[in-house]
Amino acid sequence: MYPRKILEYMEGFLISKTVFTSCELGVFDVLLAAERPLSAEEISQAVGASLDGMQRLLAACTGLQLLNTHWDNRQVFYSNTEQSRVFLTRSSPLSLYQSIQYSSRTIYLCWHYLTDAVREGRNQYEKAFGVSSKDLFQALYRSDEEMVKFMHLMNSIWNICGKDVVTSFDLTPFKVICDLGGCSGALAKQCTLAYPECTVTIFDLPKVVRVSREHFVTEADQRIGFQEGDFFKDSLPVADLYILARILHDWTDERCIELLCRIYKVCKPGGAVLLVEALLNEDGSGPLTAQLYSLNMLVQTEGRERTGAQYAALMAASGFTNIQHHLTGKIYDAVLGHKET
Ligand code: SAM
Repeated sequence: MYPRKILEYMEGFLISKTVFTSCELGVFDVLLAAERPLSAEEISQAVGASLDGMQRLLAACTGLQLLNTHWDNRQVFYSNTEQSRVFLTRSSPLSLYQSIQYSSRTIYLCWHYLTDAVREGRNQYEKAFGVSSKDLFQALYRSDEEMVKFMHLMNSIWNICGKDVVTSFDLTPFKVICDLGGCSGALAKQCTLAYPECTVTIFDLPKVVRVSREHFVTEADQRIGFQEGDFFKDSLPVADLYILARILHDWTDERCIELLCRIYKVCKPGGAVLLVEALLNEDGSGPLTAQLYSLNMLVQTEGRERTGAQYAALMAASGFTNIQHHLTGKIYDAVLGHKET
């Protein structure tokens, strides 16, 4: 018996760190700019790294199928694979570079305390970053720089799977949409692209709205507006549809119902709420990504990932009816619940 899986799992973090480091050093960016295969010497010089270290890093990236090799005169040259060019270079419209940075600099450090998180049943900001976790988003946004990094993390995935989420139900009847906790506006943009007649108001904390306005949503996005506020305290905009994307997974069941009840009160009759989350199978058997994300929620938030039925129960407890969910086949799924006319 050979414990292949266990050996792979034991060393899985070596793979993550290889990807983090290659991105951080700019290996994929240098190869993109060169427009021709480069030698290890050329890449190490361009990024200011040791030749020996770079040769090993490039070899590992080749093994991970993130780089192609080309042999010429018994010398090896490297180029980006198609996936590396599209997803690992900084300038690509579908870049995951900022997400990888956040995984490397923040999430990885929190996961160092996973054992404590499981023992204590709570997030690990105090140990990982020396900040109080009493107010979750004060801990997450412990500096302006951290907040912007988080916003980039939130932004990138919707360029990849936002369309699937917003089209998993036909949202055409909903013209006035409010994206609660809409952050950088990436999902709002996907809504306005998919539904030419809708307008979207991004409701978020004041400092998030300020940065989103300045750096993420341009004047060209004319159908996207903003409202600053605290969705647990301040009055919410009246809308036909409220989107809660990756919001409820941050909070306990009690807090979720509190928020959903507030939404139910202001939602127009015939309106709806759309939850966007990574849904667990009903028997908890998968998908692995959602199971791992639920551990991540333990380490980083007050919430958890849930099944479609668990989200439906939260919505029903807040007054919503006719609740359905759709799986997209990608990371994030959608649950839609209605307010009766
Ligand atoms: N919906 C976005 C997405 O999926 O990319 C962002 C999800 S992020 C996990 C949670 C968002 O909720 C952040 O933008 C955060 O600033 C916002 N948020 C957290 N607490 C809030 C509050 N009390 N009032 C308003 N927004 C809040």
